[in-house]
Amino acid sequence: MSDWFDEPNPAAVAGADEQGLRFSCTMCGNCCTGPAGYVLVSEAEIDALALRFGLDRVDFLARYTHMTSKGLSLTESRTKFGLDCIFLDRETIPGKAICGVYEDRPTQCKTWPFWPENLGTKEAWRRAARTCPGMNQGDPVAPQQIRILRDRTAP
Ligand code: SF4
Repeated sequence: MSDWFDEPNPAAVAGADEQGLRFSCTMCGNCCTGPAGYVLVSEAEIDALALRFGLDRVDFLARYTHMTSKGLSLTESRTKFGLDCIFLDRETIPGKAICGVYEDRPTQCKTWPFWPENLGTKEAWRRAARTCPGMNQGDPVAPQQIRILRDRTAP
């Protein structure tokens, strides 16, 4: 089945004849902060993160997660930008916000911005791009790859 981003789409991409959608993260941190939200983590992701910090599972869960209505989430810390993901690093690169656990970040983070709710319509994609300056920048991501990422995030 085809999707709207299969078609050459000058409104969504820079070239008139290319397919897919462009994305290149600018490390602004907008997607990792804001009002209270969810950074959902799976069992396998918890294990990987706990290992990364040399913590056992119980300690990791107590220190870095909390239960939400959608499931277990990484916790957040209040900063002048809003509620940052506990692993968002605003120190290492001045003026940038980077993921402090990048290699072990949850699927939700790996698949942004190719989430089902952003891909439903062109308008949804445009709306999401208002707060994510990396969308519609960089090299195009092919429709097939977009579908793989979207379907990894689907509920
Ligand atoms: S909002 Fe977009 S550009 Fe900013 S950090 Fe998140 S993915 Fe990168």
